[in-house]
Amino acid sequence: MTDDELLAHECPNSHLSYPAHARCPECGQEQTETVDLSAQTAEVITWTSVGASPTGVREPNPLAIVEFTVGERTVRALGGTTADVDVGDTVEPVFVEQLRDPDVSIRATESQSWSGYRFAPVE
Ligand SMILES: [Zn+2]
Repeated sequence: MTDDELLAHECPNSHLSYPAHARCPECGQEQTETVDLSAQTAEVITWTSVGASPTGVREPNPLAIVEFTVGERTVRALGGTTADVDVGDTVEPVFVEQLRDPDVSIRATESQSWSGYRFAPVE
């Protein structure tokens, strides 16, 4: 997986999951295909704001569960948001170089991937 992809994984029965699982959570088949969601928009299903974050994580840390529509299927993803969102809002993934501050992490920085996606409201 490269840094600029947001990939849902797909099994032979066309079930989608994010993140990847070794086996499809719905039918147990191996997931063999991927669908890049990074250029798609999603709908906010629910959100929360975490006030007590681990060391190195922004505080408060707003998180949302968003739902992507891929053809006639949907796949949900959990991620941080760039701003306050409401249920039903449309958001788009934005690439973030550093989701955490590596300097204050209690873990070795070399072993961590700091980049990823947050979800930004679409006007
Ligand atoms: Zn499946």
